[in-house]
Amino acid sequence: MAVLALVELDNGEPSDGSLRALTIARSLGGPVAAVVFGTLASPEAVGGCDIYQVPASAVDGYAPVAWARTLAGLVAELGAVGVVAASTDRGNEVMAHLGALTGLPMAANCVSVSGSAGEFSLVRQRWAGLLLEDATLSAPVALLTVATDAVAPVPALAAAGPVTVHEHKPSLAAGDLAVLAAEAAAGGGGVSLATARVVVGGGRGVGGADGFKPLEELADLLGGVVGVSRVVTSEGWRPHRQQVGQTGTKITPELYLACGISGAIQHIAGCAGAKHIIAINSDPGAPMMSHAEYAVIGDLHQVVPALVAALRDR
Ligand SMILES: Cc1cc2nc3c(=O)[nH]c(=O)nc-3n(C[C@H](O)[C@H](O)[C@H](O)COP(=O)(O)OP(=O)(O)OC[C@H]3O[C@@H](n4cnc5c(N)ncnc54)[C@H](O)[C@@H]3O)c2cc1C
Repeated sequence: MAVLALVELDNGEPSDGSLRALTIARSLGGPVAAVVFGTLASPEAVGGCDIYQVPASAVDGYAPVAWARTLAGLVAELGAVGVVAASTDRGNEVMAHLGALTGLPMAANCVSVSGSAGEFSLVRQRWAGLLLEDATLSAPVALLTVATDAVAPVPALAAAGPVTVHEHKPSLAAGDLAVLAAEAAAGGGGVSLATARVVVGGGRGVGGADGFKPLEELADLLGGVVGVSRVVTSEGWRPHRQQVGQTGTKITPELYLACGISGAIQHIAGCAGAKHIIAINSDPGAPMMSHAEYAVIGDLHQVVPALVAALRDR
């Protein structure tokens, strides 16, 4: 009785969140099958299991209903008792579509799961991780997403065994490949906010939509992505999918560089899992400064371009 794990790619490699999803899938004890849209640069990076790789000729980029329909087909084909994905925007969206297509219940933000076909016990995060809930999911197939900071991902080597790659062409219905225009414009294969190793955050202090150019440059140089506070999305300077926080995305990067962000509790709920935080703020009393390991007291419009120039020099 297999458990499927949806593996999202960051530049051809499995995202950290997906490695956590695989870790939870493996903790259930049965065989695990990974489902990938696109091409894994190194299949052994997911550890020993069957990999169902959907080529771009069948589904090109992110199409949530097509991804969900593919998973539904594999659940039936393999007799899977569970499907696990990372609790990213995409993971949650695809699993919600899968629930709608199959009539199965879904539990989001799980930190641990046990049990077997029919009845799973789980612990999941509520209120942006402020509360842990014990729950039971009674269903022939459990649909689960795994909180981005739930478990340390088991390295592929520890999950050794044969890796078999199957090219999988799903049968899709008309309209399954529809993608929201905003998603298409955002591109399909980049690094996602939830699993990025570096996030350059911008808040009200950035001053407007145009002020994000230097932050984007800095993020590019560091191999990261831009994240923002809610003020920024409410003002329409950046899209909501870039929001960090209680009502946005929870991030767990190695480095979070918070520029012109005051550090409201609802923002901290989304970035407290960052390994290192550096704050750049003109107000030494901003709460963000006390959450940061290093704080630069200054005008971000001077500090960020200076950082970009220093990195370019290197
Ligand atoms: C139910 C609820 C849910 C919420 N969910 C979220 C959420 O998910 N994410 C989120 O972020 N917020 C959320 N909020 C909003 C939150 O309470 C704050 O209002 C918001 O985070 C503040 O955004 P900010 O830090 O960008 O702006 P501000 O609080 O206005 O802070 C701006 C900061 O920029 C600094 N600054 C200004 N100019 C410069 C400069 N030139 N150089 C350097 N620093 C400068 C200032 O000193 C200040 O510290 C939520 C609120 C509620 C009620």
